[in-house]
Amino acid sequence: MDVTPVAHKQCCPLCQTDEFVIRKGINTPRLVRHLPAFGKKIVLVVPTIRMYCSSCGAGFVWAYDFVGAKRRYSHLFREWSAEQAFGSTAKHTARS
Ligand SMILES: [Zn+2]
Repeated sequence: MDVTPVAHKQCCPLCQTDEFVIRKGINTPRLVRHLPAFGKKIVLVVPTIRMYCSSCGAGFVWAYDFVGAKRRYSHLFREWSAEQAFGSTAKHTARS
């Protein structure tokens, strides 16, 4: 599933404002595993949006609340997979 942020800009992590932030293009999208739906695996195709703050000179990429930086699994998927592993064997958990 392709996803995209609804806002155009995100606040600079140093200045905490988006007043001087400009978009600098989009890198290769990230693939983030999310909770299964309709009996299928769900992989979110998340754009990696580069931004630049002209006030402090910081370059950064869009930070998403549902997934940690450089993580390939969403927070919900991590919680769900930990719950699935509870009470099952190590072999089954490793396979899933
Ligand atoms: Zn800044």
